[in-house]
Amino acid sequence: MESQKKYKPTFSFEFYPPKTPEAVAKLQTTQVELAKLNPNFFSVTFGAGGSTRDMTFETVMDIKEKTGIEAAPHLSCIGSQADEIKAILDKYIESGITRIVALRGDLPSGSVGYGEFRYANELVDFIRKETGDHFEIEVACYPEFHPQAKNAQTDIENFKRKIDAGANGAITQYFYNPFAYYRFIDSCEKLGIETPIIAGVMPIVTCTQLQRFSDACGAEIPRWILKRLQEFGDDRVSIREFGIDVTTELCEQLLANGAPGIHFYSMNLSAACVAIWKNLGIDQ
Ligand code: FAD
Repeated sequence: MESQKKYKPTFSFEFYPPKTPEAVAKLQTTQVELAKLNPNFFSVTFGAGGSTRDMTFETVMDIKEKTGIEAAPHLSCIGSQADEIKAILDKYIESGITRIVALRGDLPSGSVGYGEFRYANELVDFIRKETGDHFEIEVACYPEFHPQAKNAQTDIENFKRKIDAGANGAITQYFYNPFAYYRFIDSCEKLGIETPIIAGVMPIVTCTQLQRFSDACGAEIPRWILKRLQEFGDDRVSIREFGIDVTTELCEQLLANGAPGIHFYSMNLSAACVAIWKNLGIDQ
């Protein structure tokens, strides 16, 4: 973990673009609540193939205007042509956006054609070639490994391609086992990766939602956590309290061992994030 200890920890929250007027209003309340904590930045996801392109942009601009806090759009490249990505980058530059989370994304089922980019390292390379050092670029990485990875070592080598292409840092997929993260960092150090690798943390809100996401993205829910969540049934208060305790302890351990920050997958909700933040005593 030595490579990570030199960075002052940063804290950020991720949102997804809302789809209905009610969801827009809910996110606006959430962003105001979370802005009071003074995070380093917010980020907004991007549907693969550009399905949320306009809403990602509008949400980013709304956050910047209403909270004054930096907001980074995610940009996924799968299914896109280079000129489409270039047009998005130009618009971001014109709008004063200086930070991007660069991803491959996943093709929605039934879609045809990968587009001009096969992997996220090609997107990072393209952004650097087209826009130089304008953007601070974060990429994704996977302490429990990407579901399509051939094996652990290849996945870490593929992560290194993104750093070598010019990414400034990375945000991990969420995980509940800190040892997966420590081991991952050690393996990265052996390959010479020293950029900050921020731990992604998913507050637990409901059991079914967590299971659904984890099945899709390959994050493991430890058996003891799942058993407890299942036993709580519909008792949302107990799930909430347990989730906040477990996630607070995870963050405490990660930070104590040198993690250079936490990126909260907020799911557009503020209460659990605020509670964890207060438990951690983060003073920004
Ligand atoms: P890559 O880095 O391209 O890796 C994908 C797979 O290909 C891995 O198995 C890797 O080992 C392999 N690979 C990589 N490069 C090569 C290469 N050059 N040759 C051969 N194999 C290679 N998805 C969205 O659609 N929108 C979002 O906004 C979004 N935000 C995310 C934010 C974070 C922090 C994280 C962790 C994930 C996010 N995702 C998002 C999900 C992400 O798009 C998926 O996990 C996707 O399957 C992989 O994206 P990637 O950028 O990690 O891909």
